[in-house]
Amino acid sequence: MEAALLYGVKNLRVENIDMPEVGLGEILVKVRAATTCGTDVKIFQRGYVSGVIQYPTVFGHEWAGDVVKVGEGVSWLKEGMRVRAGNSAPCLRCKMCQKGNYNLCENMMWLWGAYAEYIKAPARIVMLNMQEIPLSITYEEAAVTEPLACVLHGIEKANIKLGDTVAIIGAGPIGLLHLQTAKKMGAEKIMISDLVDERLQVAQELGADETANAKREDPVEKIKRFTDGYGADVVIEAIGLPATWEQALKMVRKGGTVLEFGGCPPGTEITVRTELLHYGEVTMLGTFHATPAHFKKALNLIASGTVKVKPLITRRMKLDEIKDAFEILTTSKSDLKIVIHS
Ligand SMILES: [Zn+2]
Ligand SMILES: [Zn+2]
Repeated sequence: MEAALLYGVKNLRVENIDMPEVGLGEILVKVRAATTCGTDVKIFQRGYVSGVIQYPTVFGHEWAGDVVKVGEGVSWLKEGMRVRAGNSAPCLRCKMCQKGNYNLCENMMWLWGAYAEYIKAPARIVMLNMQEIPLSITYEEAAVTEPLACVLHGIEKANIKLGDTVAIIGAGPIGLLHLQTAKKMGAEKIMISDLVDERLQVAQELGADETANAKREDPVEKIKRFTDGYGADVVIEAIGLPATWEQALKMVRKGGTVLEFGGCPPGTEITVRTELLHYGEVTMLGTFHATPAHFKKALNLIASGTVKVKPLITRRMKLDEIKDAFEILTTSKSDLKIVIHS
């Protein structure tokens, strides 16, 4: 079967590899749609955190497809079923799992290999983080469950209350999912900022009340004007740069919350004025990944049309064009997600 293997920074090749064997509790899926993700782009551009992974590695983690082989001991799945799975499954036994922080599991099982004709889901993933896809949605929409799951985990902690004003930094796929979920959580007004007009256009179509192109106007000044000088009740950073993490702290009102959502390059630091936390009582928090419950909830929200993921898909390409797909995503920022079809 064909699969995309990452050999190092910007070194992505489609090769023939052996079909995976299906063992106890496992299943094999024919991938029908795999979507690109900001994390994949970061890995393609600058590599994994050293030591975490050995090259070459099969690439991609957002996918949906049809069950083609069911391993022994799996009773709820049948050949031909449309399924999707998350890219992780916690161990349920470590200290973090026992405390209920499944997303922080110390022995997390990760699943890679979405950019391929077939993908094998290991037993733990089949057990904890796989669902049948509701008939109302396409494979492409189901593939976008993973980023929405991460956004749900973040937005639950961001403490948005009915009538709040929210500022979102970044109108990429993650920022646009935050926009939609923040509205559903009760935000009355949302301002979103980015450097790309096409992305801000999509944000407006998805319900943004105000947009700011940070190339032309300062999002900090704009949110102040928008809120009679106070700042937003909740600010969400959805880019992953120390500069925008710090910018978020300048956009929040006293007593408000800042969710630093985007993962910054390893080893980076930011400066926080102590007065902001003390006199300003600002809550600042980060979130990482999601739990299996969030994955399940995310799929349901896509299926019910509560969160729209179709506007995030801007292009479709074939598996053998995958290198071009990632070159496009690193150079032009007007694309959001590209669907890879094998
Ligand atoms: Zn992703
Ligand atoms: Zn664990």
